[in-house]
Amino acid sequence: MLKLFNTLTRQKEIFRPLGDIVDIYTCGPSVYQYAHIGNFRTFIFEDVLVRYLRARGYRVKRVMNITDIEDKAITTAKKQGKTLREMTEYYSKAFFEDMEMFNLLPADVFPRATEHIPEIVDIIKKLMENGYAYRGKDGSIYYKVSRFGGWGELIHLKLKPGKKKIKRDEWGEESNILSDFALWKSYEKEDGDVFWETELGKGRPGWHIECSAMATKYLGTHFDIHGGGMDNIYPHHENVIAQNFGAFRENPSKYWLHCRHLMINGKKMSKSLNNAYTLAELVRMEFEPMAVKYLLLSMGYRRRLNFTFDGIEECGKKLEKLHNIIESLRNANGRDDASKLVKRARREFERAMDDSLNTGKALKVMEEFADEAGKISPGRESAEEILEAFRIFDSVLGLLKPF
Ligand SMILES: [Zn+2]
Repeated sequence: MLKLFNTLTRQKEIFRPLGDIVDIYTCGPSVYQYAHIGNFRTFIFEDVLVRYLRARGYRVKRVMNITDIEDKAITTAKKQGKTLREMTEYYSKAFFEDMEMFNLLPADVFPRATEHIPEIVDIIKKLMENGYAYRGKDGSIYYKVSRFGGWGELIHLKLKPGKKKIKRDEWGEESNILSDFALWKSYEKEDGDVFWETELGKGRPGWHIECSAMATKYLGTHFDIHGGGMDNIYPHHENVIAQNFGAFRENPSKYWLHCRHLMINGKKMSKSLNNAYTLAELVRMEFEPMAVKYLLLSMGYRRRLNFTFDGIEECGKKLEKLHNIIESLRNANGRDDASKLVKRARREFERAMDDSLNTGKALKVMEEFADEAGKISPGRESAEEILEAFRIFDSVLGLLKPF
């Protein structure tokens, strides 16, 4: 029985999908910079989620948005002397290359915010009609937080009421203050040629409304899983819930899953702390992408995980060992029977993954299974049975070379 930890209820819950297809929305990258491997901890966990659901026989539809319009995207494009489109194309391409190097399955839909302005306008109009949004003196349209009683449900914190309005996409230090936030930002000189002429006036969307609009378009007003990094819980996902409630009277997702950030030297890996590595940088240092991925999976996605170069090296060795054992199994011609061993490993692997995707435990199961398989001398049929188990494990983890 698969259990997933739901941030909404703070509990591991038995996973029961709403319909025939498991619908998943995951917050994708902001393409004004390279995604670092801390960001990829989340994207890898989401990939494993999709793979495991499929391995368990579910049909899955996954949407991952590309945030190609937000405050920082505009300032970065200006700094680089590029148009917004040129810059976001560049970083999107880099993101997709990293995804491929990490052997991540593409989402079924990769919607871009700038291509969904009509949907965004529609949902803001609904919010205004329902009394959840208003136009500020500056011409921007804000979400009226005091109108929504359920605010703070996801973060489970008591927030102080404030009177300020926030037009920025990111809120900075005052993040424990309840503030109305911008849904539609009226045009300002600094926005240059980044604007849309719409029924709402000349301007551009806020970041939070983008996800409500795109999730609704592709998955409807209530779907199975909404995922992201823990940093997304507040304010982003809290705002998404508020927006959807205001427009459609319901929380958009049954399960909310959040991946913990990656640590380095006791601090969170982040661009702003200047301690982040991209996959491309690590590859230039001659680390294998799969060894990096192995490290990122070596703890369940909600556990604290520290990044070190020694850690990647150790994981590289473990991978090499696995490949060697697989290679020797392909030439096996002994007599030992492995069916008990296989059965036990498969059962333990499933148990680990069923426990809210405990990839750390699942990897240990695979390592021990490889050790034991390396100690026996199986016959052809048994060797094939072992190899098949490895293929099943790897259909979930996506770490091994094809065999
Ligand atoms: Zn989002």
